[in-house]
Amino acid sequence: MKTVHIKSFGCQMNVYDGQRMADILGEQGYAETPTPEGADLILLNTCHIRERAVQKVYTELGKLRDIKTAQLANGQHTRIVVAGCVAQAEGAEIQRRQPAVDLVVGPQAYHRLPELLEQAQRRRTIDTDLPIDDKFGHLPAPKPAAIRARGISAFVTVQEGCDKFCAFCVVPYTRGAEFSRPVAQIMTEIERLAASGVQDVTLIGQNVNAYHGEGQDGRVWGLARLMHRVAEVPGIARIRYSTSHPNDMDEDLIAAHRDLPQVMPFLHLPVQAGSDRMLAAMNRKHTADDYRRLIERVRTARPDIALSSDFIVGFPGESDADFEETIRLVDEIGFASSYSFKYSPRPGTPAADLHTQVPAALMDERLQRLQARIEHHRQAFNHALVGRTVEVLLERVGRHPGQLAGKTPYLQAVQIETEANQIGDRVQVVIERAGSNSLFGRKAEVPDSVGGDGPLTAPQTPSKELAA
Ligand code: SAM
Ligand code: SF4
Repeated sequence: MKTVHIKSFGCQMNVYDGQRMADILGEQGYAETPTPEGADLILLNTCHIRERAVQKVYTELGKLRDIKTAQLANGQHTRIVVAGCVAQAEGAEIQRRQPAVDLVVGPQAYHRLPELLEQAQRRRTIDTDLPIDDKFGHLPAPKPAAIRARGISAFVTVQEGCDKFCAFCVVPYTRGAEFSRPVAQIMTEIERLAASGVQDVTLIGQNVNAYHGEGQDGRVWGLARLMHRVAEVPGIARIRYSTSHPNDMDEDLIAAHRDLPQVMPFLHLPVQAGSDRMLAAMNRKHTADDYRRLIERVRTARPDIALSSDFIVGFPGESDADFEETIRLVDEIGFASSYSFKYSPRPGTPAADLHTQVPAALMDERLQRLQARIEHHRQAFNHALVGRTVEVLLERVGRHPGQLAGKTPYLQAVQIETEANQIGDRVQVVIERAGSNSLFGRKAEVPDSVGGDGPLTAPQTPSKELAA
């Protein structure tokens, strides 16, 4: 049997695409293998969001060229494929810099992998076509065994691309214009996942809350309506969605956090910065106070919700005062978790041409300060759960023998001591301790519930008072 090694970098969309490519290649007789050594086909599914992510790809390709050469000396012909957003953005440049690459395929063209691989046997091949409307219709359904092997949580892409054009971001250029999959197609996929044991789905898209797909009644459905439909699927106990833009958080979506027990009390809602001057320069089209008011409405609907964001420090022109506004916002909101990045100029984006780039040392200093505040609030949120009982969905064996690992409704990792046959169970757990990366707990004696259909027992998200 032929083997393929797939390595995905970057976001959840790439995890999803990597699995779809594994499904396509599975139909061609390829079995997945966890290491590149010995593989007949090596596929890098790449990320272009920051410069460092791109450098990683070229470093990785150097190592793969060595593997290819060594395997050829032993009579094995190895092929190397570069997929994902670097493939889309760099195209022919990839094969110029690394001639060992046989095929370059963009994120909207990978459904054509079988024919492209055949073509690549005769000559080096590139396919970076952008129209995406036919990709999903051509993807094979994953086999039940593949679904089970991937576990009880799954990502489902419902939307791709972006029309927002934030000044720093390459996504509109690498993933193309916004596109929403029709509801019927999404439901077929989710029903199939649920039939093979998936209980926890995250609906994903670069701009997922801008979802506007064709509904089963022929009308346009928004994300909230789609989630109501997903909640009807037997077996689906938990629903999340990511990543959202503040300007697309409509009332129906906020209400879904209040009305649908399957919608988890977790929201990743990137704000990027706390200064209105920076938000305007970033072309985010909302102010920091718009964001504060939005969070208030979300918290009114679901008071215990865990909030998360992305931040960029050192966007061109960011002053000390602008940066302090970001720190102020972080301390006011008290995010349960957040990602933070140094601004990375991306070729072709408007911000890359600005002459007010922030010096690297200052960016480092700001990032460290921001990350310390983010970590403080993350720990505060986690510690606020100690002594409480929450529902944990057990997903896999834990770090040590006799431990199982799962997630709270707030997306925190939890380790509990219990018999190994409980993977897939949703159990009530008393949280005993908060470690640096995980919570630790024991099964509760008395049933209690949160994020399920019982009364809420979760803490309020840590607020200003908890901030030191
Ligand atoms: N669509 C989402 C939104 O509206 O915020 C974000 C998608 S993007 C793939 C993920 C995150 O990467 C962004 O939220 C931003 O914080 C970060 N990012 C994007 N471009 C960046 C750049 N040029 N430099 C640093 N961080 C960047
Ligand atoms: Fe990039 Fe998100 Fe802005 Fe779209 S909304 S351009 S994906 S940061």
